[in-house]
Amino acid sequence: MALDKDIVVLLGGVGGAKLASGLAQILPGQRLTFVVNTGDDFWHLGLRICPDLDTVMYTLAGLVNPDLGWGLKGDSAVALETLNSFYGVDTWFRLGDKDLATHLQRSQLLRCGRSLTEATGRLSKSLGLDAALLPMSDEEIPTKIETLELGELGFQEYFVKHRWQPALKSIRHAGSEKSSLTTQVRSALMAADMVLIAPSNPWLSVAPILAVKGMRDLLTSLDVPVVAVTPIIGGAAVKGPTAKIMSELGQEVTAANIANFYTGIINGFVNDSQNEPLGCSELRSIQVNTLMKTEDDKKSLARATLDWVESWGA
Ligand code: GDP
Repeated sequence: MALDKDIVVLLGGVGGAKLASGLAQILPGQRLTFVVNTGDDFWHLGLRICPDLDTVMYTLAGLVNPDLGWGLKGDSAVALETLNSFYGVDTWFRLGDKDLATHLQRSQLLRCGRSLTEATGRLSKSLGLDAALLPMSDEEIPTKIETLELGELGFQEYFVKHRWQPALKSIRHAGSEKSSLTTQVRSALMAADMVLIAPSNPWLSVAPILAVKGMRDLLTSLDVPVVAVTPIIGGAAVKGPTAKIMSELGQEVTAANIANFYTGIINGFVNDSQNEPLGCSELRSIQVNTLMKTEDDKKSLARATLDWVESWGA
């Protein structure tokens, strides 16, 4: 496995952060750029909350809560509990006491006129990250979920308040038509030797990234391996609503349908050994264990993916 390749990873939160961690353990940080979904972001209690950016940042900094896969380890929730008990504020969205420091600092930087890219760079450097952590865009492109029971919901209302139980009818990326790629994301992709799409939720975490104006065209114009890793193992999602959403959209819960979702963008697919092969697909694919329970699992998947892609050139 060559250590001199520049790799760009498109990802969401918890599932994506696992592969990010595996890659960061085997490659120099300077070779890695993580382009993170910001469709989940929202203003809440006067603060800009960026759940996926923070999950990836805390994971790479070794600070993430290992039980949850997000939030900070050893955190408490006194501020939120006090907000509720003193002032009756509905605290449905969990924000830890230590975690609040990140939201306060980011919001302050944004209010002083910094872009989200600049703010994220400052936060991640302060926490010791070598890899580049980039929001998918500097514009706000909130994901809106049209549900059967409750009409249109903001992403966090759907995901956290209603625990992704309402049936999903469709998804909208508000403002995407007026959005643009940042210079940093464009440059990283144009210089990449390989692009990976992490095993993140294709509909909720990766589609918002693909919806940034210019992203699809740029990805399809690249002449390098663009490889997705399956988030579906054995007909189910490891965690979260990916399988439920596929069923609600009338799709069979298969890795082949995940690969189909990325048609035109990817030229390689990392399938799980427990899944059916992709069949007569034109796509290059490999079957390996993609379940990442331990740090070794994360490193092995990262290594297997890179070694496989490198063998294409042989
Ligand atoms: P979120 O933004 O926090 O929901 O996280 P992501 O979108 O990045 O990841 C959610 C997806 O990750 C789900 O579809 C899971 O099935 C998938 N996932 C989580 N852990 C694993 C794992 O160990 N292996 C694989 N292959 N997929 C995983």
